[in-house]
Amino acid sequence: MIEGIPLPSREGPFEAGFWDALDRGGLAHQHCDACGAWHFPPRWRCHCGGELAYRTVSGKARLWSWTVVHPPVLPAFAPYAPYPVAIAELDEAPGLRMAGPLVEAPGDPLNHVDPARLQVGMPLQATIVLLAEGVPWPAWKI
Ligand SMILES: [Zn+2]
Repeated sequence: MIEGIPLPSREGPFEAGFWDALDRGGLAHQHCDACGAWHFPPRWRCHCGGELAYRTVSGKARLWSWTVVHPPVLPAFAPYAPYPVAIAELDEAPGLRMAGPLVEAPGDPLNHVDPARLQVGMPLQATIVLLAEGVPWPAWKI
């Protein structure tokens, strides 16, 4: 946990399935049975008009891209900069991409992973970390 960071809201009208899965230590995302599309962030309906239902996913992913964050950053992140941030594409949900920190183990600091080790397409596994008390979020384990 990093004190003083902006936190995502748990209060949106379509997010309950996402947060419930994170609270259980896993991931779930909205899926449209009509067209097969996956969605994140949560939304009301699919772009095709279909209804969306949450499906649990394994958290297996590939590194789609990454960036290295350099100062200036918010004061809470300054002790860790520069640090890499992943864009992970879930294996079971092609096209669904999530941003998050890269770690080797939960609790690693944001700057633990050397960006020189990263390769587009390398396997990642979601691991749930606490951004703050009661606010779980996926990090990406290399
Ligand atoms: Zn659809």
